[in-house]
Amino acid sequence: MAKDGKAYLSSLHDDRTIYIDGRRVADVTTDRSFHSVVETAAGLYDYQAAPENLEQMTFQSPTSGERVNLAWLLPKTYGDLVRRRQAIEKWSALSCGMFGRSPDHVASTLAGFRMGLAAFRDYNPARAAALESYFQYARDNDLFLSYVIINPQSDKARSAGGQPDPHLVASVVDEDSTGITIRGAKMLATSGIMANELLVSGFQSLQAGDEAYAFTAVVPLGAKGLTLMSRRSYEQNATSQFDYPLSSRFDENDAVVHFDDVKIPWDRVFVFKDLKMAQAQWHDTRAHVFQNYQCIVRLSVKLKFLLGLARKIAEVNNIINYPQVRETLGLLAAKVSNIEALVIAMEIKGEMFQGFYVPDRSILCTAQVIAQTTYPEVVEAIRSLSGGGMIMVPSSYADFATPETNAIIHKTQRSTVATSEQRVKLMKLAWDAVGSEFGSRHLQYEMFYSGAPLVTRGNSFRFFDWDEVKGTVDQFMGSYGLPGSSPKLSDAAE
Ligand SMILES: Cc1cc2nc3c(=O)[nH]c(=O)nc-3n(C[C@H](O)[C@H](O)[C@H](O)COP(=O)(O)OP(=O)(O)OC[C@H]3O[C@@H](n4cnc5c(N)ncnc54)[C@H](O)[C@@H]3O)c2cc1C
Repeated sequence: MAKDGKAYLSSLHDDRTIYIDGRRVADVTTDRSFHSVVETAAGLYDYQAAPENLEQMTFQSPTSGERVNLAWLLPKTYGDLVRRRQAIEKWSALSCGMFGRSPDHVASTLAGFRMGLAAFRDYNPARAAALESYFQYARDNDLFLSYVIINPQSDKARSAGGQPDPHLVASVVDEDSTGITIRGAKMLATSGIMANELLVSGFQSLQAGDEAYAFTAVVPLGAKGLTLMSRRSYEQNATSQFDYPLSSRFDENDAVVHFDDVKIPWDRVFVFKDLKMAQAQWHDTRAHVFQNYQCIVRLSVKLKFLLGLARKIAEVNNIINYPQVRETLGLLAAKVSNIEALVIAMEIKGEMFQGFYVPDRSILCTAQVIAQTTYPEVVEAIRSLSGGGMIMVPSSYADFATPETNAIIHKTQRSTVATSEQRVKLMKLAWDAVGSEFGSRHLQYEMFYSGAPLVTRGNSFRFFDWDEVKGTVDQFMGSYGLPGSSPKLSDAAE
């Protein structure tokens, strides 16, 4: 048995505090702003629990003996890593790659922490023990976690502790023998409204004096004092599935998270007021690699879907045989294949890390940098190929049911390869992917979820093997010198 949709849905009845449009949500599973995406998340669990998918989506937990999602697997071999990736791909495919923060995302973060347990033990054995036992608990209950690791924007020239309001950014305001108390906010929890628990941490660098902001802990969404303030719901404004096929089902939501003196017990605290460990937890473990590996695998699925859309638009408008259009599609295909190739490369070039087989860190950072420019380019190409086609569509499916407009639709929505209905359906799907409020949010997501470009490029700089490339230059420069003193290339190589 593995966790299914029914078990997941019932786990959300925990009196969580979510606000949207000036009202408090009574039940996220039935609320008009969220019920479709919650249903989509339940569908992921139903998919993994279906007998025909159990083997490819789950494995047996070594502690509970129950089957749990493969995202919790700590890979020991290349084969384990590939098996795990294939499960990520299967879940991603169910939402055309649109569900960025499916449960396998933060499960990957925790797996990365767990694989780097040694770093936590060096820092503090008690916090390491808390992490180890929480990982087991989260895995055995196949929990859906969201995370908040970025601070609310404000004065970016000052650090968390330098803001005029010391309680803008979530920090530790109290501690006693039972645990810690958190007050303040974090920027955004994607999927937070439908997660079971929330990982609260910090990825941004802090300064001496900011110790209270340097913590990592997990808290259930139903915790007293924890409030999620949702952005506008796109699914609520999606008038029908036909008109908004993606917004209506895959609006994973983003919410500001506010902590009003939330109490967290010590066995849920992994980093406590430690500036060094607040950074080391990401890079001395493989948490950063593992969580973003899930993102790139998912992005690869999404880009293939978008490429399919681009090709179908070109066929429907019969522009497919123009050399310029083929050139555009060829370039897009290369960019999409490039991301897939990076996934394969980071797996093959993976390394053993404290007994676990993990993707190559430098290639992962490369993929993040390239993804941030590839996605906007793919979106722009789809807009460019479609021209006004995505806009020249009926206002809604209802126009098909009105005889006067139905006749006009059949007269004006023409294609050599598609019926009027197929053409409208495709153009509406394309608009939802790249132009609707949902589509626009996805552009912003892909450009920023892993940090602003200065962050991702900074990581690429940090983890690239500069010695190797500098060595090739040194070797060559050692092969010649001032006239009359030039050593041979073979001497330099020695
Ligand atoms: C749709 C969406 C979903 C998200 N989901 C989550 C989530 O689930 N969990 C989570 O923790 N976070 C989430 N985030 C937050 C995300 O991680 C941040 O947006 C990202 O890290 C960038 O931080 P920022 O938004 O503060 O941008 P900033 O850091 O303010 O960057 C914006 C721009 O400011 C300029 N800038 C900023 N700092 C500097 C500098 N030092 N030097 C030069 N220029 C600078 C650059 O031009 C940069 O592009 C999400 C974001 C989005 C958009």
